[in-house]
Amino acid sequence: MRKKIIAGNWKMNMTPSQAVALVNELKPLVANDDVDVVFCVPAIDIIPAMEAAKGSNIQIGAENMYFEEKGAYTGEISPEMLTDAGVKYVIIGHSERREYFAETDETVNKKILKAFEHGITPIVCCGETLTQREQGITIDWIRQQIKIAFQNVTAEQAASAVIAYEPIWAIGTGKVATSEQAQEVCAAIRACIAEVYDEATAAAIRIQYGGSVSAASAPELFAMADIDGGLVGGASLKPDFGKIVNYNK
Ligand code: PEP
Repeated sequence: MRKKIIAGNWKMNMTPSQAVALVNELKPLVANDDVDVVFCVPAIDIIPAMEAAKGSNIQIGAENMYFEEKGAYTGEISPEMLTDAGVKYVIIGHSERREYFAETDETVNKKILKAFEHGITPIVCCGETLTQREQGITIDWIRQQIKIAFQNVTAEQAASAVIAYEPIWAIGTGKVATSEQAQEVCAAIRACIAEVYDEATAAAIRIQYGGSVSAASAPELFAMADIDGGLVGGASLKPDFGKIVNYNK
């Protein structure tokens, strides 16, 4: 039985002092032992958010990480910086990073391998554009993203990974995919993992849906057979996130 994982993606929001206030506000609202709760926050917020989250069920994650160990990469965050701060999860390959910061399936693959090397669980993002959906190539596109992202990743590593299926047309638009649309793609991702690895790996890997998840849409989405939780942007900055995390209460 896979444990649900619901992660917030704060994107480029919240100063360090705002981060502390938000963690303190949400702490009592996101208690739910049935779910792994992760707040993926801007790098500068990681340490204060971690402090504020102490004693709660909130785990603090990162929104990005570089694939080199250290050195002359001005502005980047290394895996060791994350582990030293206590980070266990990192979002890799969010569509905003692909669109605005030229990330590719190949750099996503390098980052995933590096995250695993350091014991950090990647939340690997994939998703199609509206044009791709209308062209009927969603599943082919997602399969390709997954296959490249997981190149040279072992079955044991893959089993512990998290994949976030995030249709680009649903991110920040208020247009949530129907639970059937989300389930269809999440099932195809699981089938792809079974093909690349084996049934046991496919049964273990956790697959989230992301894209305008709200307190209203979460219960139906998270009840689908292949949806193991969500990656939540806008709503993770509000008390509503507590309702999303407690979708099953
Ligand atoms: C996201 O940023 O990953 C996301 C899903 O955003 P939103 O929930 O705001 O659509």
